[in-house]
Amino acid sequence: MSFVTRFAPSPTGPLHLGHAYSALLAHDMARAAGGQFLLRFEDTDLERSKPEYIAQIIDDLTWLGITWDAPPLMQSEHFNAYNQSVEALISMGLTYPCRCSRKDITAALAAPQEGVPHAIYPQTCKNRSMSERGPTDALRLHMDRAMDALAGKELAFTELGDLRKGVHVIDRDEIIQSVGDIVIGRKDIHTAAYFLASALDDIAQGITHVVRGIDLFEFTQVQVLLLHLLGHKPPLYHHHKLIRDEHGKRLAKRDDARAISLYRDQGASPQDIRLIVGI
Ligand code: GLU
Repeated sequence: MSFVTRFAPSPTGPLHLGHAYSALLAHDMARAAGGQFLLRFEDTDLERSKPEYIAQIIDDLTWLGITWDAPPLMQSEHFNAYNQSVEALISMGLTYPCRCSRKDITAALAAPQEGVPHAIYPQTCKNRSMSERGPTDALRLHMDRAMDALAGKELAFTELGDLRKGVHVIDRDEIIQSVGDIVIGRKDIHTAAYFLASALDDIAQGITHVVRGIDLFEFTQVQVLLLHLLGHKPPLYHHHKLIRDEHGKRLAKRDDARAISLYRDQGASPQDIRLIVGI
């Protein structure tokens, strides 16, 4: 069986221990399977993504002994592809324009690891039609209609990681209630939402196994749903443990104190990082 996996950081901060664990795990799995390890920069947030973070992440990964088998995919170069899928969802009648505040929209657009809580959209704009779409409106997925469109289909994905191992069937009511009407795109800034871009690129890069943190488990369901809507077969998933700080909190980009570059400055070796994260 082929094995192609990836590490997909958002270059909005330095690489920290949690990222190092994720990257090392995916990389080790690919090498053990004789498969491929790919890199993808999820730089759709044009304001917060910085070239210096990309350079630092590449430098840190290389220092850790990680190699990738193709040039990194830059999401900021693929807005056309994401927009085509957004258009497909529009033509299926599964979207509505949303003019709720920038703050709401930012929370829904941002990668979940950034510590932005995932707020369930209160459906204020749900009855607006696409003909009312304003130039700065966000586009939301009408989750009820999306689930109706998939009625009768086996909506499941396979999880290989020990934490939730097994086949997970996506439950219509649960996803409507716990995930809600996610933002899938914005017209003004040509920014595809995290969910869509990331799911599409797993297909574009031929990923067979998505290895990533358990904090993304809920989002995996949404991505599997989007892939089904767009006629793609989802990959297999392996959600891993999170690296936590001494208070049990998961690390986020703001935890610069755990940045790999600081460990490097203090003389740690790549093997020391492996020991710290337990891999
Ligand atoms: N881009 C996400 C991050 O900030 C990871 C996405 C994924 O693994 O699918 O780390």
